[in-house]
Amino acid sequence: MQKLIDSYKHKGMRRNLILTVREKGIHDQRVLDALGKVPRHYFFENVFLEHAYQDKAFPIGEGQTISQPYTVAFQTEKLEINAGDKVLEVGTGSGYQACILLELGAEVYTIEYNKVLYERTRNFLPKMGYKPHFFYGDGSKGLPKKAPFDKIIVTAGAPTIPRSLIEQLAIGGKLIVPVGDNEKQQMLLIEKISPKQLKKKSFDYFCFVPLLGSEGWNE
Ligand code: SAH
Repeated sequence: MQKLIDSYKHKGMRRNLILTVREKGIHDQRVLDALGKVPRHYFFENVFLEHAYQDKAFPIGEGQTISQPYTVAFQTEKLEINAGDKVLEVGTGSGYQACILLELGAEVYTIEYNKVLYERTRNFLPKMGYKPHFFYGDGSKGLPKKAPFDKIIVTAGAPTIPRSLIEQLAIGGKLIVPVGDNEKQQMLLIEKISPKQLKKKSFDYFCFVPLLGSEGWNE
């Protein structure tokens, strides 16, 4: 694992990354500032360091990836995170997205289905000073014991909108989830207006690893 040193060089590379993400259409300054605060190179082995501040996804082992910074920023911006929001993240992966949510002042519950990644990230993130609540299990069913959530972010591609996640949204809450096949998924934002009324918005297509589990793709 990379030594936890955040040099001026790293900070400079991060500033350039933020410019790139902004040019691609992310304008929420709070989100851009959060990207500026989280040392993404901490998530990379030394030999891959040059990849840390490029705007692309990267393998983190176990066949999974750390999401592209633009994608992280896009999902985060659409959720309009406020300080104190209770947020569920489905797909902890590297933990990078969870750090961004924490920088925005959210209380983060993050769930991961892959035991190796769960253990690795649960051990590593606190060393960086980030402390979400970690859970191991099938997040396609949400986290009923901790519901309701103000915001829910799914960082893996789902075949359909997981019903449990809608149920676990607070009134006024928002869910962002990429839905599609294994090639590409459309980003959907679902707002719970009242217990029976949802408002849905569709955005561009993205490419995620599959959401597994009972309300995801069956293994
Ligand atoms: N948010 C991550 C990116 C995650 S990649 C980051 O910032 O790095 C998607 C992750 O979702 C993978 O780690 C995968 O193991 C996990 N995943 C897939 N299906 C899941 C499920 N049903 N519940 C929880 N995690 C799941």
